[in-house]
Amino acid sequence: MSSNKCKKCGLTNFAYDDACRRCDTLLLPKPKPKAKTPRRFSFGSLLIIAFAAGFAFYLYQSMQKSADDVYADELKRIEEQKKDKTAGLSRSEYEKQRTGTYFEAVKSSNSLSAHNEHIAETQKAMEAATNAQQGKQ
Ligand SMILES: [Zn+2]
Repeated sequence: MSSNKCKKCGLTNFAYDDACRRCDTLLLPKPKPKAKTPRRFSFGSLLIIAFAAGFAFYLYQSMQKSADDVYADELKRIEEQKKDKTAGLSRSEYEKQRTGTYFEAVKSSNSLSAHNEHIAETQKAMEAATNAQQGKQ
């Protein structure tokens, strides 16, 4: 602070004063704030870079974390699904159950059941024909 004291009149001026407020003499310790300014700037930019890097790292981590969460949730969901549908079932039994429900759905379809009836009738007719042929022999 003594550097801002006017050498001519002895008045202590503010740090940002270029010249003495009383006698207008240029205050000599000018290079000091000039030297400080780039240092302060570089420090500020360093802070900004550090902050940006920290923020980027935080973003990356939160993204990574959320991705992990999604993966964990998916695993959990699959695990719960397995528990629900295949509790105490082996893989083949589970497949059978699935195929069973599939055929159950197909059977409930009207057009398909009609088609199946037609096939059954054809089979009966063919069996009758075969029986008749066998009866001839
Ligand atoms: Zn002065």
